[in-house]
Amino acid sequence: MNAALYGFGPERRRKWILVDCGMGFASEEHMPGVDLMYPDLSFIEQRSEDLLGIIITHAHEDHIGALVEMWPRLRAPVYATRFAVGLVETRKLSEPGAPKIELNEIVPGNRLQLGPFSVEYVPVSHSIPESNALAIRTPAGLVVHTGDWKIDPTPYLGGTTEEAAFRALGDEGVLALVCDSTNVVRDGVSPSESDVAAALKDLIADAPHRVAITTFASNVARIRAVAEAAKACGREVVVVGRAMDRVVGVADDCGYLSGLNEFNPPQAYGYLDRSRVVALLTGSQGEPRAALSRIAEDEHPDIALSAGDRVIFSSRTIPGNETPVNAIINNLVRRGIEVITDRTHLVHVSGHPRKDEVARMYAWTRPQVAVPVHGEDLHLAVHADFARKQGVPNVVRARNGTMVRLAPGQPEVIEHVPAGRLYRDGDVIIGQADKAIPERRKLAFAGIVSVAIAIDQRGELSGDPAVEHMGIPERTRSGETFAELIDDAIAETLNGLPRARRRDPEAVEQAVSRAIRGVIRAHWGKKPACHVLVVEV
Ligand SMILES: [Zn+2]
Ligand SMILES: [Zn+2]
Repeated sequence: MNAALYGFGPERRRKWILVDCGMGFASEEHMPGVDLMYPDLSFIEQRSEDLLGIIITHAHEDHIGALVEMWPRLRAPVYATRFAVGLVETRKLSEPGAPKIELNEIVPGNRLQLGPFSVEYVPVSHSIPESNALAIRTPAGLVVHTGDWKIDPTPYLGGTTEEAAFRALGDEGVLALVCDSTNVVRDGVSPSESDVAAALKDLIADAPHRVAITTFASNVARIRAVAEAAKACGREVVVVGRAMDRVVGVADDCGYLSGLNEFNPPQAYGYLDRSRVVALLTGSQGEPRAALSRIAEDEHPDIALSAGDRVIFSSRTIPGNETPVNAIINNLVRRGIEVITDRTHLVHVSGHPRKDEVARMYAWTRPQVAVPVHGEDLHLAVHADFARKQGVPNVVRARNGTMVRLAPGQPEVIEHVPAGRLYRDGDVIIGQADKAIPERRKLAFAGIVSVAIAIDQRGELSGDPAVEHMGIPERTRSGETFAELIDDAIAETLNGLPRARRRDPEAVEQAVSRAIRGVIRAHWGKKPACHVLVVEV
């Protein structure tokens, strides 16, 4: 959910730019029924007239994914390179009623003037085309915001992170470096995308039968590497999955797939010989509706695999997704399908810099201030230490919502502003304070009992109470049914209430609810939710 604000000027006349507007994926376990998260941007929403622009560094979902949803609240012009603009446009097409976003295409290397900010796109290697660091110049100094990056001298597709460009910024004088921490806990340098391409080429060439490769849809270099490897050994590429289709379309428009054979739709798969096909699939994270998990269950309408075929995970399992990914791997292996992952072969590299790469960035830019970003607390802490060791005079530890003064004066944390999460729940967006998700979690844990009781004006029961329950076991350890226990608890409670009290619906509701929860807890060890409705007749 990347979203960084840079402000300039005295508080009352401060102007802002927003760098990136990303979304996150919620884990189903903690957030039942929710899969997407957006950053809470209420701080800048309240100042949207002073927001001069939204600058997109690159097209990964954690940098652009919230744009379509959040833009109507911000209404500032958006700047992005062609590939990112193309992906936002296709996303809008797939969301009916999407806003008409003011999208402006930026050519890397160009500068953009927005009030006091002059923003220059500085190309970097990463794992998606057209990734950029930003050189943000203001009258108070130059800030380098790296975005996501790595150093890859042979990136297979697109440009490299140019030492000369960053050295030139260093010579100009960098006030602050706001730098990616994702892989800073790892020593050394990351392998190259070209090494992965070579490994994939061998694995495709010596595969006895079909090959299916799953990767992050946005990794166009990887898609290109697979297509070239397939072409080299006379195999056709079949593209399966909506996200993959979308990226392939935009990448093709931008010229990143030129010179390759035409990709085939899933329907072509059945007509291709077993030794003449490579399927490119979505679903490397075990997403249940994506192509790979359906294929693993042998439930895909077009794509089937059988014993002796080879599946390559050209991806890394994002923490939290291990369970569904392992389930897929086990399904495939059980059916005699060979599975290859990055644990045994160099079939994936990260797009983020390891320690030695980060060290070089500090050496090139020589900042006065370091602000580690992109990462969990552990990564940020390791990065902060590391930056000090690189000789950076000021290291500021910031978390979500931290406002840092970079200049003038001693750089420091000056404020904390609201910066929570928003959740996409069905078709609505809810905030952290909304009770819907904690309530659903509670229901999932201990079920619910619903009771309706009719009481007349004299305080007498009119008919038997109606009881429904869900998510509660049928019987106790000693064999009684919970249904009977609930009925008895209701009857006892009502009998025990003086008639005057029975005419007070709220008192009846409270007493019955307490009794039911109490008896269930005594026999189950857990307390369900309990809704008691008293109707006066
Ligand atoms: Zn990112
Ligand atoms: Zn990225």
